[in-house]
Amino acid sequence: MTAPVSIRDLCRHYGPARALDHVSLDIAAGEFIVLLGPSGCGKTTLLTLIGGFDAPTSGRILIGGRDMTGIAPKDRPTTTVFQDYALFPHLSLTDNVAFGLRMRGMGRAARIARAQEMLALVGLEGRGDRRPHELSGGQRQRVALARALAVEPDVLLLDEPLGALDLKLRRAMQDELKSIQRRVGTTFVHVTHDQEEAMAIADRIVVMNAGRIEDCGPPAQVYLRPATLFSAGFMGEVNRIPLTGGQSPLGPILPGTGTLLIRPEAIGLQGPLPLGPARLIDATFFGTYQRARFAPLAAPDLTLTAHLPQGMALEPGTELALHATAHVLLPETP
Ligand code: ATP
Repeated sequence: MTAPVSIRDLCRHYGPARALDHVSLDIAAGEFIVLLGPSGCGKTTLLTLIGGFDAPTSGRILIGGRDMTGIAPKDRPTTTVFQDYALFPHLSLTDNVAFGLRMRGMGRAARIARAQEMLALVGLEGRGDRRPHELSGGQRQRVALARALAVEPDVLLLDEPLGALDLKLRRAMQDELKSIQRRVGTTFVHVTHDQEEAMAIADRIVVMNAGRIEDCGPPAQVYLRPATLFSAGFMGEVNRIPLTGGQSPLGPILPGTGTLLIRPEAIGLQGPLPLGPARLIDATFFGTYQRARFAPLAAPDLTLTAHLPQGMALEPGTELALHATAHVLLPETP
């Protein structure tokens, strides 16, 4: 089951605070959308409004073309998976997963069969008799997902569902979440502040800041061609070079005015955009690359960060002619 979601000019004010400030977004049926942003940017508020647990100050939400204004959470075609799993400790996994089906009046045999099918979907086949305390954090998260999907929502809302897991398990669960979403085809709206997680799972990332949408697009677009300086910085490390009428601290490298953005992995010894000679300040080994910091000779106060090959000999003090393989020029200035 799946449906599109249309968010139209949504505002949620708490007194003078604008948790959401004129947010509009169209989500396609079956899309995996990630709401990404720093603490307090309004992503949980948006998820809460879609689920119907709170009402907007103004604006509307349509799910499957139906206006959700005034419709209670239980009557919406949505379910929510929370970070703390919220499983019933005294119930077996099967009964946990079947709980929502029981509430909807499904007979015991049918709901047990469906719960077992859902447990199999999340890789917990044959473990339905266990209790939540016998499971690891990742397994509990999978039960919560199975329970949410059992009722066949059109839209699944996920509020930092992997936040309590350690990094390795989190990365593994991201792959699983994505593959489960592909199999069921349900629209997923997932909240996180982890940009790597967003890139790993999203069809489209929605970058939020101070109650507004700053950027929205597939991961590669948001990372490589960010719409704003905030979005560029939130998605990962980026070099910012000011440009005024074609003049930059590095010299006349490009025509235009604004801020030139260059990702560290786009700086090296070759490339179409020469950045001039620079002195290596230091280099740190990061496994798959070395993070090297340079002071350009033309502007020693402007540090440039480059990700250089793992095996490259890098001696602090060495002078190298730097080039960029890719860049973005935004009209904004910091
Ligand atoms: P986090 O990642 O920390 O959960 P978030 O991006 O999900 O942050 P929200 O929880 O949506 O952010 O909050 C957005 C803003 O609205 C914050 O400034 C928050 O303090 C404010 N806010 C949220 N709920 C309320 C409330 N019930 N009363 C007053 N202010 C609120």
